Amino acid sequence: MQTEEYIKAGKIAAEVREMVRVKDWIGKSVYDICEEVEGEIKKRGAKCAFPVNASINEIAAHYTAEPNDSITIKDTDLVKIDLGAQINGYIADTAVTVCYDAQFDGLVQAAEEALANAMSMIKTGVKASDIGRTIETTIKKMGFKPIANLSGHSLDQYTIHAGKSIPNIWSIGGFSLSENSAYACEPFVTTEKGGGFVRNGKIKNIFALNSRKKTKNDEADRLLDFVWENFNMLPFALRWITKEWEEKKARELLDILIKKKAVQAYPVLMEINEQPVAQAEHTFIPNEEGVTVTTRAQ
Ligand code: MN
Ligand code: MN
Repeated sequence: MQTEEYIKAGKIAAEVREMVRVKDWIGKSVYDICEEVEGEIKKRGAKCAFPVNASINEIAAHYTAEPNDSITIKDTDLVKIDLGAQINGYIADTAVTVCYDAQFDGLVQAAEEALANAMSMIKTGVKASDIGRTIETTIKKMGFKPIANLSGHSLDQYTIHAGKSIPNIWSIGGFSLSENSAYACEPFVTTEKGGGFVRNGKIKNIFALNSRKKTKNDEADRLLDFVWENFNMLPFALRWITKEWEEKKARELLDILIKKKAVQAYPVLMEINEQPVAQAEHTFIPNEEGVTVTTRAQ
């Protein structure tokens, strides 16, 4: 447990998120957004804990820009920007939803308010299921639906999902928060017409190492080593390897690694009724005094 590194990563992630929140992204490409936000993280002395996600409308999560991605932000889009900073593998995971269309204001507010209410109840020993209940109640009172099959998670060094889940709905059982452990809480909200669940989409543009077992293909093994040395077991994007390999070659090698199960590809997650989704997220550490929300805005 490296509290100082968690706090340093959190401060950087919070600063970048607040920059993202107020910026006018209309007309910008998803590629430019991801690259710019990742640049802001690095500029402040952290590494990216994962590729910046820019997930639009009914895509709830896990979309990052392809190399030269030409999708651009429209003034009617609802965009979840989810970003992660890490120092020596200690991660700050935070997200904000940006939109320029007043019809989505309620949805965004519901995600923010659910997160704020969850944060205000955090202390050592609080049950994750009670956090889920607070999130669900807040969202439903505002006339919306939580996404039931997306959740917050425990964090560990070089590990984003460290095994424990903080649900966005009330559920039986679950664990209690441990002192001096890091967690992320991330309410996802959709409209009443939404199913309140996500399903896997076809697109997969976020990857992570599964194993370091060699494939016996020299070039593919070189990519495997490159990924390990640069990203450890954390997620990465094709954009991050096309600086070393030409895009076509990078895709070929990545496919080999995926077939050999050395690398895993993560599909985008879409709302089952194709309804828009908003998200808010903080990373926090319960402690003696109560809680340190490492990604709290300064
Ligand atoms: Mn996140
Ligand atoms: Mn997260």
